[in-house]
Amino acid sequence: MTPFVRSALLLAALIGTARLSSGQSMPVTRTGFAAPMLEAGVSHELATYRAANIRNVRYDLRLDVTRRDSATGRVSVRFERTQSGDAVLDFRGLGVDSIIANGTSLSVRDHWNAAHIRLPATSLRTGENTIDVRFVSPIAPAGASIIRAHDTTDSTDYLYTLLVPSDANLLFPCFDQPDLKARVTFALVTRAGMNALANGTPLPAVTAGNVTTHSFAETRPISTYLIAFAAGPWATVNRTLAITPGAAPVPVSLWTRRSRLKEVEGDTLLATNARALRWLGDWFGVPYPFHKFDMLLAPAFPFGGMEHPGAIFYNEDSFVYRERPTLTQLQGRQATSFHEVAHQWFGDFATMRWFDDLWLKEGFATYMAAKMQASLEPKANAWKSFYLRNKPVAYSTDATAGTTPVWQALANLDQAKSNYGPIVYNKAPGVLHQLDYLVGERAFQSGVQSFLKEHAYGNATWRDLLSSIGKAAGRDLTKWGEQWILRPGMPIVEQQLTVRNGKVTRLALLQRPAQPSVSGKGAWPIKMQLLLHYSNKAPVRIPVELTKDTTIVAAAAGMSAPDFVFANDHDYGYALVLPDSLSVRWLEANVGTISDDFERAMLWGALWDLVREARMSPPRFAAMAARELPRERDEQLAGSITGRMVTALTRYMTQSSRDSLMPLVERVLLAGATDTSRAYGQRKSQLDALISLARTPAAISRLDSWLTADTAAGIPLRPPTRWSIVTRLIAQRAPNAELRLLAESKRDSTDEGKRQAFVAGAARPDSATKRAYFTRYFGDRDLNEAWVTSSLGAFNNGDQDALTRQYLVPALDTLPWIQKNRRIFFLGSWLGAVIGGQSSEDALVTLDKWLAAHPALAPDLKQKVLQSRDELERTVMVRRTFRM
Ligand SMILES: [Zn+2]
Repeated sequence: MTPFVRSALLLAALIGTARLSSGQSMPVTRTGFAAPMLEAGVSHELATYRAANIRNVRYDLRLDVTRRDSATGRVSVRFERTQSGDAVLDFRGLGVDSIIANGTSLSVRDHWNAAHIRLPATSLRTGENTIDVRFVSPIAPAGASIIRAHDTTDSTDYLYTLLVPSDANLLFPCFDQPDLKARVTFALVTRAGMNALANGTPLPAVTAGNVTTHSFAETRPISTYLIAFAAGPWATVNRTLAITPGAAPVPVSLWTRRSRLKEVEGDTLLATNARALRWLGDWFGVPYPFHKFDMLLAPAFPFGGMEHPGAIFYNEDSFVYRERPTLTQLQGRQATSFHEVAHQWFGDFATMRWFDDLWLKEGFATYMAAKMQASLEPKANAWKSFYLRNKPVAYSTDATAGTTPVWQALANLDQAKSNYGPIVYNKAPGVLHQLDYLVGERAFQSGVQSFLKEHAYGNATWRDLLSSIGKAAGRDLTKWGEQWILRPGMPIVEQQLTVRNGKVTRLALLQRPAQPSVSGKGAWPIKMQLLLHYSNKAPVRIPVELTKDTTIVAAAAGMSAPDFVFANDHDYGYALVLPDSLSVRWLEANVGTISDDFERAMLWGALWDLVREARMSPPRFAAMAARELPRERDEQLAGSITGRMVTALTRYMTQSSRDSLMPLVERVLLAGATDTSRAYGQRKSQLDALISLARTPAAISRLDSWLTADTAAGIPLRPPTRWSIVTRLIAQRAPNAELRLLAESKRDSTDEGKRQAFVAGAARPDSATKRAYFTRYFGDRDLNEAWVTSSLGAFNNGDQDALTRQYLVPALDTLPWIQKNRRIFFLGSWLGAVIGGQSSEDALVTLDKWLAAHPALAPDLKQKVLQSRDELERTVMVRRTFRM
């Protein structure tokens, strides 16, 4: 092989020497290409240009992954071209060896700029074209499109890809945009003894000497970000299962590392996925749209799961447990499976045109997962889980000055990572829930079915979806879409209740934007269900449409005075509801007596929102939580109340103000963990909370003593919990902490043990440790991204803010680097931990000075900073209001 043209190729060579004449706004290439088409990443302009004149794309891709750090490949790109002019392929891998356009060789130096391969019009034909490129791409533990995960248990390497959203062009030359779908034929050359998995149906593998060639049949049309493969000494669990209603069962397999095979609940996981495939095929009215279905448990996977058609990848750690899982964990795993399987239709089969419509696939997948659970497991109270899992997270981002619309403009695929976050994952499904309630289930389903049929193996936008659902419902949804899809921010709904002589005299709902400076004025159209609760008679439920700033609920006037009123019964509306003072008074004393779990969960949420709005003092909430926890029997809700109590104490209250409450809270948590009349998951979540906040000498020494026993509070003690205890002891500088860390590292020498020791080390409350970790985060190329992410909480421990404050500015300065070099969710975790670790007014001032000093900060980064800033501002406001 000849030497490769290495990175930093001259953009100038491609742009040509065309001089800018005065008044000309952008440089022009020799062939009339505007320079933005060839800039790094994939500009929206380039994507639009290509979508208009390229079609019927096919990739015949062959990759050799027998070397450790790089893959050599060749691809044959076939496509039809409908206009004259240049064509552009995207590629930013390690090197290009040769480019042959329709049989004619093109100079690499003149046609590759380390981001794109320019195919001059003279080398192309109208109609079918074939471009052959030989290239090299990177393999690495992080920062490459082929991830290498090393398993020290048996000293093996596993490879897998993760191309979403913009790394397909780091792997191979392609048209990297979702609306140029392609049929992919794939061959992978590995060392002998490896297995391989890809999107297509596997053909017989051929071994010659010490290499094996794995071939896969051509796929249906799929977007580049969905292409995937994995290679390594994977073990498989193979079953034959029914995945299409009415059709014969087909082979389905689960792939896992050999070292974890024994722990994998293969039958359960396969059955869950197959059940989801059947239910969704039926609901969507479209049978499973790909040739085969397999799933893989990927080690050190940076997401929960990824929906590659026919080859879903799941995060091994959240799918194989190292200790007995709680009900909440099991439901979370099922929700992830349902979400990824729903993507096979919504995302893979009908795909967004561009990543500005990311919400279409993410919102839908989460919404359908809840709908499916509600139908398949009526006892699971799916909508309560949906509420607890999504709404508080959505509101806590959407009510900030950094919020964005559900639809988010995207100028370049390079910045697509910023579009991921609670707005698309948690708000969008809430908005769909509201739409379903507005138009009715039947119209909603029939609209979605016709949308899918119309865009089969194609692409669409949110307007297409609303038009299909609107048609089915006989209702024009244009205005509704402008308010919920294009307008940023969210409403806060305040209840006003007046009662006289035992009767309601006036009940009003006042709507206002949480952030008028972001959202503008005016009401959102919301349909909700209002609840009037009575202890001595049946509740009254009134559907209400809010279309103005003030809505008087006329139907309530004259009714007997309720115990309380709640405007968003059953969570149909997307709005943060603040109860009136009469309702709050009753709820504060009686919330635990409400028998409906879903209703009780929402009311606890409303009370917590009062704390976050600085209208209820944190000690008051913490005391109420400590009083009610012993009788709370809903596992998920108990976990959520516990979490809020911990936040009230450790975040909204200062060290001195929390001291008086701490012994009581530790006692309640210990009693909850020990109470054998409770479900395991509930006991475990109380134990975990106790470990996370323990600080009195008695509690710390109890934690220490558990390490010498087999159980903690009567619960079997397994490595994950042992490591949490060690981390807590280290953070609190407990007398035996360092000895315990040493002993635990000896006891658990697995890869997971090493990661946990790294996390525990980050919790050390001394400046040398913080400096060493911060330096390693950016300087150690072998440090796995998942390790960094998992240590951020310990590094930024809220009690150590005096030590970590000096890293606030350096941490903010790294944002552009992080955006470029880390995967999708890292930036949000980084900001959440770094800013979330601070709680003082000083830190807020520092942050605001930094923002003021960086007026040119990219808007998407600024929004992310503002999203995290909100919680710091609230903390300062709450502490100031209640003099904490
Ligand atoms: Zn998803």
